[in-house]
Amino acid sequence: MTGITEVSTIISRRSRRLQSAPASVGISRGHGTTSPDPSPARHLLPWVFGSCMALMVAMLVARTAESLASIPERLNAPAVERPYPLPEIEAATGVALEQLDEAWLEHRIRPGESFFQAMRAMGFGPGTVQSVMDAGQQARSLLDLKPGQVLRASAADGELMALDLEIDPLNKLEVRRDFDGYSALLHTRPTQTVQAQAAGVINSSLYMSAQQAGLSDRLVLELAEMFGWDIDFTQDLQPGDRFAVIYNELTADGEKVRDGDILAAEFVNKGKVLRAVRYTDPDGRVAVYKPDGSSMRKAFSRNPLPVTRITSRFNPNRLHPIFKTVRPHRGVDYGAATGTPVQVTGDGQVAFAGRQGGYGNVLIIDHGRGNRTLYAHLSRFAPNMRVGQRVNQGQVIGYVGSTGWATGPHLHYEFQVNGQTKDPLTVALPNAQPLPDAYRRHFLTQTSGWVAKLDALATRRVAQTDPAQAQ
Ligand SMILES: [Zn+2]
Repeated sequence: MTGITEVSTIISRRSRRLQSAPASVGISRGHGTTSPDPSPARHLLPWVFGSCMALMVAMLVARTAESLASIPERLNAPAVERPYPLPEIEAATGVALEQLDEAWLEHRIRPGESFFQAMRAMGFGPGTVQSVMDAGQQARSLLDLKPGQVLRASAADGELMALDLEIDPLNKLEVRRDFDGYSALLHTRPTQTVQAQAAGVINSSLYMSAQQAGLSDRLVLELAEMFGWDIDFTQDLQPGDRFAVIYNELTADGEKVRDGDILAAEFVNKGKVLRAVRYTDPDGRVAVYKPDGSSMRKAFSRNPLPVTRITSRFNPNRLHPIFKTVRPHRGVDYGAATGTPVQVTGDGQVAFAGRQGGYGNVLIIDHGRGNRTLYAHLSRFAPNMRVGQRVNQGQVIGYVGSTGWATGPHLHYEFQVNGQTKDPLTVALPNAQPLPDAYRRHFLTQTSGWVAKLDALATRRVAQTDPAQAQ
């Protein structure tokens, strides 16, 4: 079978004194290749953790995590010299392992503690600290200690013989007494990426339910972001909504180190099944699509300000608050303090920026294909809002105010299609650009296996749910 190709350059004991580069690892398996750390930091979406409604329904969570490599395959994998477990002392020190075992001092780094302070706490003086720092570039990580990291040291006749620092679960620094000082070496554990899957039913909040299904905070945020265009996680969730996720797990020596990216996910909201797959195109660009290649994103976001601020809706028969006559309200009003940033809802260019009667300071953005949006009563415009200026979805274009006919600070927002105003809250929003045709074959090769797994998860779920209903 495919087996696992592990390229590990764990430094052998004999070559430890070389000031070599950190061990690097490359792994390939099956049709996908993986890099050791594919984890872009994601900004937090606090609303996911927020008031996702308290709903009381019995919990049904199934979690299955499976490695792609079967156990026999793992057993047949080439043997790798492991840098772990600690401690491993080379013969050059001339001390038996058992004796050293007992002689290791351990020190956990406290907040704000420096390497110098930590060494002093273990009984080593400034001379030793300086000698260790002279061990070279690799020893520099000792100057960047983080609270909770553990230093281990062993000494003979009061002299430091070995010093280990676990930088993180994957990296370990080893400093060893040498003929004329110390040498330092960074060990990196070889990592593997395995696919895992989790599924759950929403009972209280997405966050709680996903956590019980074994998803990390990071994955919950990624999941919410994937479906954020279709589901408002603060309002739309219902008991019985379900999710299934196929994601990468980074492992070392068979142990999970952390979660990688979500590869594919399903969310069933109010009975409606939504699916998303992650796609990396041949140029390395990553985007999320529906399994058929259409975009998960819309060309427009629904609101230029948080939805919770809506104070007046689109209403053709509204009694106007100032004129006290029936005057249709052709947009949506969002109450907010003067100065609150207004975000343009779609890509486009400025068609008008200036004063216009009752609208006060108003911006009109042309999005092409007959779509325009209008932002009125602004206190001021963002810089460079001149006619023809290109703007991108989410960009701040102006600030809430009460210019023109306004009873108080608010944003008046309109959505126009071919010159006709539509209710921005219900108008059908076009999808963003779909997958380019040139990538279709590549896309399907990459994602069809994950979609099949989602199918399998869905089937399993039906089988699991039926007996429960019979009870
Ligand atoms: Zn209005």
